Amino acid sequence: MPESKRYDIIIAGAGLSGLSLAWHLVKENYTGQILLIDNSFAPNNHKTWCFWGKKDHPFADIAHRTWKNSHFSALDFSSELSLKEHLYFCVKESDYKETILRTLQKAPNVDLLEESILDFSSNSSKAALITKDSNTYLADYIFQSIFMPSHYDPSARKYPLIQHFLGIEIKTDEKVFDKKTFTLMDVDSDFNDGFAFMYVLPFKKNRALVEYTIFSANPLIKKHYKKKIRSYLEEKYGLTKENYSIKRKEYGEIPMDDRPHTPLYSSRIMNLGTVGGFTKPSTGYTFSRVHKYSKKCAQALVKGVNPPTPTASSYRFRYYDLLLLRVLATNVPDSRKIFRSLFKNSPIDRIFKFLSEETNFLEDLMVLASCYYPPFLRALTVHPPLITQFDKDYLAPSKGKELKEDYFEDFEHVPNSSDEDSSQDAEEGSEKIVQKDRLNETVS
Ligand SMILES: Cc1cc2nc3c(=O)[nH]c(=O)nc-3n(C[C@H](O)[C@H](O)[C@H](O)COP(=O)(O)OP(=O)(O)OC[C@H]3O[C@@H](n4cnc5c(N)ncnc54)[C@H](O)[C@@H]3O)c2cc1C
Repeated sequence: MPESKRYDIIIAGAGLSGLSLAWHLVKENYTGQILLIDNSFAPNNHKTWCFWGKKDHPFADIAHRTWKNSHFSALDFSSELSLKEHLYFCVKESDYKETILRTLQKAPNVDLLEESILDFSSNSSKAALITKDSNTYLADYIFQSIFMPSHYDPSARKYPLIQHFLGIEIKTDEKVFDKKTFTLMDVDSDFNDGFAFMYVLPFKKNRALVEYTIFSANPLIKKHYKKKIRSYLEEKYGLTKENYSIKRKEYGEIPMDDRPHTPLYSSRIMNLGTVGGFTKPSTGYTFSRVHKYSKKCAQALVKGVNPPTPTASSYRFRYYDLLLLRVLATNVPDSRKIFRSLFKNSPIDRIFKFLSEETNFLEDLMVLASCYYPPFLRALTVHPPLITQFDKDYLAPSKGKELKEDYFEDFEHVPNSSDEDSSQDAEEGSEKIVQKDRLNETVS
């Protein structure tokens, strides 16, 4: 028999952004009833999340590895760049999930449910989620990181680039890696694939994740990334296939186009993470942006005010991103020159601050002035400053989205989460809620 239950908040999707919001809500002592729902809470290890931050970063304790030194290389420039104000962190997906799920398990107001979500619906006062088993869950707000909203129009993208990469985590027979220095970019000199580079995260002297990353419109066949990595390992570290074993693979396609920002799925349903446009278009980094919003949102909900609509970057940063995307999409040699000049002439901490969109205008100018500028001047003529507009229509809630009122037929009969009846409902439907013991199994 399909069930229907009412919560204050539903978080649909327990990946990076869903777990982030749940974690911040618990940390901020939010007392409303929360449902976190995902296909599976099993702690996969398909991703490693890297980001820069201060040494007291909230996830510093679970970092698999941190670095203070980086290596950058492009064309004739090759240098070790030392981080003074930041650390570069790497968090394993499994550690992130395990840590947050353990915190959530202890929170009396959080239900964790493994079910597959079919769709969402909302009206001006309530939001509903329907699962493939035809169960309906209602809440004041749903935060979802699963579906691209139907009003998202991919044809509106100006430069539909993706950051696509394949990485292999290898264990070598010999100690060949400098574990204190990660390679942020070793820019490829081949023109064929698009703007491409190697990214190396050395975890130990004999263990590293080596990734071939490309910024271009289309992914390549997997064999090609592997071939590139094999040649790089041979050329750079003198490693042949016989000298290492592959422990893990990681493949990703991250949108880095100037995608219209889509903060709302429909009224009372907020988009989080990748589908919410949280990815920084010019870099693909998402982790820190997700956490920044989650913290702000949790604080608002604790105060009893409406959650803030996830905002796009300011005009200034969207504009800089657009200019760079144009160069990346149209001119690979110039792209290389831009990255070379940027890392040659600007301190890496300032670059990270700029990419975090925390610089003031003067600092922006210092970063921009350090870059090889002719391609930017050409891009300026195509997208003149101040005249260039960004997707303001997408900020309108429910644009083109039909509300599925039929899910709400019995809405008024559904008790509030704080009503006594609802706790009885919860008991009756308890087999649907992932039990703490079960979760321990999946988490460990
Ligand atoms: C391999 C890889 C490496 C990356 N590395 C970095 C990095 O180093 N730094 C960085 O900042 N960004 C990185 N990113 C980009 C970005 O941070 C991640 O893609 C991130 O996981 C996006 O978070 P999300 O919450 O939007 O989606 P996800 O983390 O993918 O979460 C979505 C969740 O929804 C669930 N789900 C999907 N469909 C359903 C359904 N129908 N019903 C129920 N549940 C469902 C999924 O199981 C999943 O748990 C990487 C991306 C990839 C792919």
